[in-house]
Amino acid sequence: MNLDFFLDPSCVFCGQDPGELAYLCPDCLEDLPFAPQIIHKKNQDFMGSFLYTGKMKDLLTRYKFEDQRYLKTTLAQLFAKALMEGFPGLSVEGFVVIPSSPGRKKKRGFDPMDLIGQDLERVYGLSYKKNILKKHKENPLQIQLSTGQREENVQGIFSACPLKGENLLVLDDILTTGSTLGEARKTLLEAGAGEVYGLSLSY
Ligand SMILES: [Zn+2]
Repeated sequence: MNLDFFLDPSCVFCGQDPGELAYLCPDCLEDLPFAPQIIHKKNQDFMGSFLYTGKMKDLLTRYKFEDQRYLKTTLAQLFAKALMEGFPGLSVEGFVVIPSSPGRKKKRGFDPMDLIGQDLERVYGLSYKKNILKKHKENPLQIQLSTGQREENVQGIFSACPLKGENLLVLDDILTTGSTLGEARKTLLEAGAGEVYGLSLSY
């Protein structure tokens, strides 16, 4: 492991000094395909922020699959940008993230969305309701499955603490079929949440 690389605060893509964001310079931030829009999937509306392509895809790949977990701060800052510039004015009491199952977390060594959630609370100031939503069932990586398999795959994978009408935001990194975010929303609503909004960093 090259520790110098991990300690170097310069832009992960081009080596320039970063501006306001961690490990991402203003030029490379410009290259990210920021395209906030409402995406309708499975009779539900989700908020999508960046296109899952180019440097956005690269950031998530490095973070999740190449163990470059220092990028959690960069990604938390991009979630904050999505919320402030893409979807301002949401009225929620806090947010939850799509957690890893215990087995996946153990295998990977960290829970990608949980680390982002902790940083997002710090950089954005919205309350992270960390223990409300649990993923208790192992499921194969979504990316390897067909659409039909994904629907079957997510049923009953989450559980939630009893809620009392709280309005919540659920965050995930990649929106494909909407199955995972949709199932999380459903679980939270059944647990007694008020409004539940789903936002994905990329789509
Ligand atoms: Zn750069």
